[in-house]
Amino acid sequence: MIEWLGIDHLFQLSTTEVIAGFFTPLAIFAAFFLAQVILPGRRVTGYVTDENTGEPRQYRLNGLLVFVIAIIVWAFELTGMQRDWFYRSTIPAVAGGTVFAIIFALIAVLSQPKGTTKSFIAELWTGRAREFSFFNHRFDVKMYLYVVGGTMLSLNALSGAVYHHQLFGADANLGVYFYAAFFTFYVLDYFIFERVQLYTYDLIHERLGFMLIWGGLIVYGWLYILPLWGMAAHPDPGFSTTWTYVWLIGTTALFLLGWTITRGANLQKYVFKRWPDRKFLGIIEPKYIQAGDRKILYSGFWGVARHFNYMGEGFLSLSIALIFGHFGNPWAWTYFVVIVTLFTFRQRNDDELCAEKYGPEKWEEYKSKVKYRICPGIY
Ligand code: NDP
Repeated sequence: MIEWLGIDHLFQLSTTEVIAGFFTPLAIFAAFFLAQVILPGRRVTGYVTDENTGEPRQYRLNGLLVFVIAIIVWAFELTGMQRDWFYRSTIPAVAGGTVFAIIFALIAVLSQPKGTTKSFIAELWTGRAREFSFFNHRFDVKMYLYVVGGTMLSLNALSGAVYHHQLFGADANLGVYFYAAFFTFYVLDYFIFERVQLYTYDLIHERLGFMLIWGGLIVYGWLYILPLWGMAAHPDPGFSTTWTYVWLIGTTALFLLGWTITRGANLQKYVFKRWPDRKFLGIIEPKYIQAGDRKILYSGFWGVARHFNYMGEGFLSLSIALIFGHFGNPWAWTYFVVIVTLFTFRQRNDDELCAEKYGPEKWEEYKSKVKYRICPGIY
């Protein structure tokens, strides 16, 4: 079965390596915790309000610094760990990381007062408390999840590229290197705009249960490289020189288009939330519907579709599927399928939550102005 799936190279570990792989995520979680607490960070005021004080929550952000240091430590093998280790240890690491995520979720749920309606299993999945922060807001658990997840996504992708290079050398598939570069760029961009994350769905709505903890740490950090499970051991697709240029440049252009849409939309919403009357990029007039003391933006990216940012993520994931050059191989499409499914459901959930927050009438008014959910003219 494993051979048939083309992932037998991920099962060639000694017993000691399996044990080391299992505990690798725990070591990473501890190292990132220390790095985030010790390294300097900038204090910022967030978007969501503190349920106890009614004031906006405070955060301390240093994801970019942690990310850069982690890349240096990995690249120069400063801990003695080989650069291809993260990729080679993927299977036991996902198993171990999942076990630790269950333990963290149990702690997060059992340390909070019991909810009234849900079963314990449902609460373990979705969580009880929305926020956990420690040491006078020096360490925020939600932001920590994304610092670990984002950095590990990049490191896992880079590690897979190293593995591929060792396997194929001069005959390597350039697409695998582009893939690692795409995700490293994606994560770097995320950390440059880390403050914008404070205005997004997970920070606003989600509670800390297994879904968010496992999703942030393990799905985002380790499992998003699923295409590489099959593709890192695959040879170059063998295109002609002309077709290689078309394929690599075309796919990079698609990636950048997706990034422009998603980053543009997120940044526009962020600017609007902080300075409601400021033109985005000095040109896009903020048009909005007033709903009580809230405002629904409907110009620019937010006038094209109600979640055009998810369309950008769709293009990004399509570029990920195409970058390996093995267009018919199901492994290449795994990330695309996950992302399209995730955002189709998330858009529907957010639509319902927004109708509640803004009031059904005002949300209907917005929907009549902005008819499409994600993809203009189609969906
Ligand atoms: P959004 O950033 O769109 O956040 C949704 C919230 O924004 C809503 O609940 C609402 O909150 C506010 N909002 C929505 N529409 C409007 C509007 N028209 N006017 C004013 N406020 C509005 O969603 P996400 O957090 O899901 O996504 C953020 C980014 O992160 C996206 O680019 C997404 O693609 C990316 N992402 C990527 C993931 C991945 O796995 N690759 C996973 C998750 C996110 P309120 O009114 O309370 O402000």
